[in-house]
Amino acid sequence: MTSIDPDSFDEMFAAAESQETVEYEEPPVRSEVEEPPIRFAEPPMSKQELEAAAADELLKIAAEEEKQLESVRKELRAKDTFLITCPNGCRIRVKEQHRGRSGKCPRCQSEFVIPKKAEPKKT
Ligand SMILES: [Zn+2]
Repeated sequence: MTSIDPDSFDEMFAAAESQETVEYEEPPVRSEVEEPPIRFAEPPMSKQELEAAAADELLKIAAEEEKQLESVRKELRAKDTFLITCPNGCRIRVKEQHRGRSGKCPRCQSEFVIPKKAEPKKT
């Protein structure tokens, strides 16, 4: 059977798109924002120092959350999907159900065939 179901391909490319656009749905903004310090005798830090410290903290939090999200995503992606590379080197994630079909790269429009099985490496 060589016919291509366009709907399935839309689905496949949608999956590829969402894989490539590195998504970050949950903003790392925390609600626990501190009140600006009231200046008494000793002003604690300069505005720049405060901003730098806050940015540093946010970066750490974001990095942690990104790690967790990444591992969850990896698990999700591993299910029933696999990666192929188009002739121009774009990484495309396709569903197992599309194996053996041909299609166009959603990025560069190159035509390619999705291998039926993972390419065996001859030793
Ligand atoms: Zn491509």
